[in-house]
Amino acid sequence: GNVIGVFTSGGDAQGMNAAVRAIVRVGIFLGCKVYYIKEGYQGMVDGGDNIQLATWESTSSTIHMGGTLIGSARCLDFRERPGRLKAAKNLVELGITNLIAIGGDGSLTGANLFRQEWPGLLRELVDTNQITMDRLTTCSHLNIVGLVGSIDNDFCGTDMTIGVDSALHRIIESVDEIMTTAVSHKRAFVLEIMGRMCGYLPLVAGISSEATMVFIPEDPPEGDWRQGLCDHIKESSKTDARRTHIVLVAEGAIDRFGNIIKCSDVQKVLTERMNMDVRVTVLGHVQRGGRASAFDRIIGTRMGTEAVLALMDAGPETPACVIVLHGIDIVRTPLMKAVETTKLVGQKMSELNFDEVVNLRGRF
Ligand code: ADP
Repeated sequence: GNVIGVFTSGGDAQGMNAAVRAIVRVGIFLGCKVYYIKEGYQGMVDGGDNIQLATWESTSSTIHMGGTLIGSARCLDFRERPGRLKAAKNLVELGITNLIAIGGDGSLTGANLFRQEWPGLLRELVDTNQITMDRLTTCSHLNIVGLVGSIDNDFCGTDMTIGVDSALHRIIESVDEIMTTAVSHKRAFVLEIMGRMCGYLPLVAGISSEATMVFIPEDPPEGDWRQGLCDHIKESSKTDARRTHIVLVAEGAIDRFGNIIKCSDVQKVLTERMNMDVRVTVLGHVQRGGRASAFDRIIGTRMGTEAVLALMDAGPETPACVIVLHGIDIVRTPLMKAVETTKLVGQKMSELNFDEVVNLRGRF
């Protein structure tokens, strides 16, 4: 049967364990051997105990757990060819020629590069007597499939990444908790929300929590945002019975000149111009924490299953794919196109308008 290695890399996300569980179980069910590669690319480079045979039981009672049980790491070694050569040796020794990478665009770029270099890496391992010639023949090509684990929802080509729904739950729980004290004291709260250059989380959290205003990178406010915010509060107070205001600020929020909008800027405006009592809360890593939502458990399971099926279908000429959500369907899409579009959106964010970003990302 086929030999599969699975690893999680880059930032952790709730639902990664559900994906790993599905990969292990579907793999075993189909007669494959599945190895955990622990600590992301670092474990692949270091080998040894980092690469362990997965059993059916080892995935029991993991579907609900947040984070990633097999560990994740940023790895400098894998960015250089000598690191990737070591990784190739470790995989070939165990006959692993199928990889499922669960991570963000950086991790998936690394996986694709590794796949392209694979024949050259193997030749070098033979030439330097690190592997035998028959290994070269049995392991001649590497199949890879990507899954996108990210709480930011910043990957182009998928409607949802694994983890973003759980992160939204964490944010909403926190906002609901803050609301009770905010309302009691008629205080305003300014919250910083994660998402790097993607405003998905602050936007949907804003809708779900009745926020007064949301600042996101994709849609810098027109005109003077300070005045706009004050005017909006004054205007809405004519018809609204609310005793508090919540303003959500994305990590990457910018004004129309490209300057970062910080929570402290918003606090200053509301304090000085509106005479409000304003507190700032940075939710930080709480957003990545806790259990996976039902939705993330389900897409993790569905995507993990599809990833194994995609590997079974792959041949030497099949381009690498990433498993994505289109509407309610789990489908395969070319890996490199999705990664390149994601990079393009990141680089050109300031030149694109909101609709263009949304179109490039897939449904928002
Ligand atoms: P994410 O996958 O969440 O975008 P990073 O960009 O930090 O996170 O990438 C995770 C890891 O993937 C890096 O630490 C590195 O080991 C590997 N990686 C990222 N980009 C490349 C690349 N261009 N070439 C090789 N490896 C890479």
